[in-house]
Amino acid sequence: MRQKINELKFYIQLEELNPLIEEIVVKIFSSGCKLMAYKNGNSKHQVTKLDCIIFLNVSDNRDRLHLLWDLIHEFGHHLDPDKLDKNDAHNPVDRIRREETAWILADSEFQKHPELFIFEENYLTYKRECLQSYKYYINLL
Ligand SMILES: [Zn+2]
Repeated sequence: MRQKINELKFYIQLEELNPLIEEIVVKIFSSGCKLMAYKNGNSKHQVTKLDCIIFLNVSDNRDRLHLLWDLIHEFGHHLDPDKLDKNDAHNPVDRIRREETAWILADSEFQKHPELFIFEENYLTYKRECLQSYKYYINLL
């Protein structure tokens, strides 16, 4: 876990947020979820028979703050008791409801950390873009 914390601090590159990153990673691990940084796909929360894991997209071209927003959003999926059934994975209404729930849970995590409030506009813009992109994607189906 120590290694994951350092890895995330390295990727997020906002030194003043290091204590917060540590707190959130500890929270994720204590809730029984794992964490993996990768560069070849979107961030996601993946549930398998044995465990679950948050894959965090740490590609170089991303806004560093977006990594943190992804982290609390994917953690929101983890906390959502309504896990996605494989058969419903492509049910658009379900998908959007789950995404909205994960963002609501991310909001409450965000609100717990006053040191994030100066980044609120960045957070809200990113959240809005993500929610729009799910709807856009679903309209294409
Ligand atoms: Zn999501």
